[in-house]
Amino acid sequence: YKGKLNGKVVLITGASAGIGSATAKAFAAAGAKVACVARREDKLKSVVDEIKSAGNEAIAVVGDVTKRGGPKEIVSQTESQLGPVDILVNNAGITRVSCIKDEDEDVDLWWRVQELNVRAPVAMCRAVLPGMLERKSGVVMSVSSSVATMTLPCMSAYAASKASISKFHEGLIAELEGTGVHSFAVHPGTVETEIGGTPDAINQKSMEHPALQQFLSWILSPDLKRQNVQLPADTMVALAAEERCKALQG
Ligand code: NDP
Repeated sequence: YKGKLNGKVVLITGASAGIGSATAKAFAAAGAKVACVARREDKLKSVVDEIKSAGNEAIAVVGDVTKRGGPKEIVSQTESQLGPVDILVNNAGITRVSCIKDEDEDVDLWWRVQELNVRAPVAMCRAVLPGMLERKSGVVMSVSSSVATMTLPCMSAYAASKASISKFHEGLIAELEGTGVHSFAVHPGTVETEIGGTPDAINQKSMEHPALQQFLSWILSPDLKRQNVQLPADTMVALAAEERCKALQG
């Protein structure tokens, strides 16, 4: 993809780790100016340094996409340094074990997953769309998951959030028809990243939950594995980049 996105401004959320950092590097290598967004400044800095040392352009934008006003602030910081956003990649996301039938289940945990995986990407889209519609060009996409169409015990918070964001994009595609602005979601299978083991307190609790073992044995069963297309991060990034290039060119 070298040179295919020369000068395009790409904003990627959750770019301090995992799929987001791989996507940021792939876009930068394709010639884009990349705004890397996440909360951990040190991690973001090392991703940005790596991109710059390869001779490409990137900035770190430290921010929390779930904060009220966060998305607008993130877009405005990006645009003041790099210019109008051409491509938005909503990638930041979390997964949590959550068994709603358990008496002590914290419903707020269920909603925190929706806050990051659904509300934040929708708010990010709202923050970039007015400019894109005025310029009659741009791409807004979200990293959903193959889980969006699966039935997962004790993972309904995550699965529902991914089904929701995929459905959101289906609607947006129809809304944006003829405007010059494109929208889509990608649905990767399992990619080994920090997502299953981020060392924060809530996730620590999730990892200790007895339902996790039940979930793991279920997800690893041969029947389910067949449905769960395994895509390594590079392939996912390449597929997404190809989609974006096509959308931008035509
Ligand atoms: P990681 O846990 O490795 O990375 C998540 C990223 O999101 C980090 O950069 C984190 O940075 C950032 N993030 C978390 N909360 C916030 C927040 N409030 N504001 C801004 N950034 C935030 O996850 P993955 O790379 O595995 O996942 C990326 C996306 O891909 C997610 O949407 C996930 O659901 C999806 N996905 C992942 C799959 C997998 O198997 N890994 C499979 C299918 C889809 P920081 O903590 O610094 O803020």
